[in-house]
Amino acid sequence: MENRGVIKPMLGTHYPMISHGKGIYLYDDQGKQYIDGSSGAVTVNIGHGVDEIAMAMAEQASKVAFVYRSHFTSQAAERLANKLADLAPGDLNWTFFVNSGSEATETALKIAIQYFQEQGITSKTKILSRWTSYHGITLGALSMSGHLMRRARFTDLLEDFPAVSAPYCYRCPFHSTYPGCGLQCGEDLERAILEIGAENIAAFIFEPIIGAAGGAIAPPPGYYEKIQEICHKYNIVTIADEVMTGMGRTGKLFGVNHWNMTPDIMTLGKGLSAGYTPMAATIVSDRIISVIKQGTKSVMSGHTFSANPLSAAACCAVLDYVESHHLVHNSEARGEEMITGLKELMMKYAIIGDVRGKGLMVGVEFVSDLMTHRPFPAEAKVGEQFLSICFEKGLIVYPAFGGVRGYEGDSIMIAPPLVVTSAQVKEILNIMDESLSELM
Ligand code: PLP
Repeated sequence: MENRGVIKPMLGTHYPMISHGKGIYLYDDQGKQYIDGSSGAVTVNIGHGVDEIAMAMAEQASKVAFVYRSHFTSQAAERLANKLADLAPGDLNWTFFVNSGSEATETALKIAIQYFQEQGITSKTKILSRWTSYHGITLGALSMSGHLMRRARFTDLLEDFPAVSAPYCYRCPFHSTYPGCGLQCGEDLERAILEIGAENIAAFIFEPIIGAAGGAIAPPPGYYEKIQEICHKYNIVTIADEVMTGMGRTGKLFGVNHWNMTPDIMTLGKGLSAGYTPMAATIVSDRIISVIKQGTKSVMSGHTFSANPLSAAACCAVLDYVESHHLVHNSEARGEEMITGLKELMMKYAIIGDVRGKGLMVGVEFVSDLMTHRPFPAEAKVGEQFLSICFEKGLIVYPAFGGVRGYEGDSIMIAPPLVVTSAQVKEILNIMDESLSELM
């Protein structure tokens, strides 16, 4: 019995010891193979064990591994920031580097508030967000998150920023159907703004496609165009939280690229380094940075490891790999195959209520009644059971339950590394097929 060590997610539970990984596969020290069908936490976009990244990191580490951002900049960090400015939409040209998605969204929160303060507008201190959202685990990021299970223990410490309905067509909060609904979910943002007062709201933060809280929920066409229009009308900064959707995960480089919208701030994490090192980013528009530059000049945020050269070198190598291996295109093509295969499983198993998502961010929602979309009772733990059957069979899928208001749901996500091949998509679908028949 262990009496010390790493604090695991579930204390007292045995976790396999991974010895190495290659591509979409991980291997434990007992020789068991796992398909990383969730890319860890939807992170390892380029797959495991890529030598080019290890080499780029070794080269950077041998030159200089750390400089402090208050004293110096580095070639690696500048190269990465310039690359991101080339790739990001609109005038998103300035990057603040941090170490996790939670830090990236909190930095976005602070920059949005500071942007108004610099103009003498001090009342705009609230950030609106949606129910059924996840923006991170630190207190500021959790304040913006509508993930009920993750908020529950700390509600007294948190702001009530989630105030807007999610564009969740399978469980429409307005009991309507697209397109007849007239995008009431979009209009709900305006309702919340009028209730709280635009003069109090600095920003609206959203995941382009909702991940951890609901399982790859994409809004209907026209939704983000409406959101952008409303935010412009009320002088509210838009923050696209692309921590999960960014870097090719959804079949486009950024999730917002699926719609005709350009955010004022964008956050990246996970796929930016593909897990090879902790790295995340808050990318900010010229418009916002120029206001801060003309004002106090300094963005009031930062961490010891911000803009770490070693991490930046790893991310540059990851981006090169994504481009040279056409992984954004592969994400789109393999994602379509995955969704087609899952829709076939949907015909076979009467517990699959919905298959959704874009690229290789694919959600599956289990229900007890296909007609009414009634979920299984919480105590049946259908989602958890499915996860553990898959795990036993050597397939890892991602839990996306516990995040929806008023509903305990059983959604999961399939999100393998973007290097997955057609044959491997079939391998994943076969294990899911076997697991579903065991679950029934
Ligand atoms: N934002 C989104 C959309 C996420 O999915 C996550 C993590 O799942 C975060 C922020 C928080 O990122 P991290 O876990 O790196 O702090």
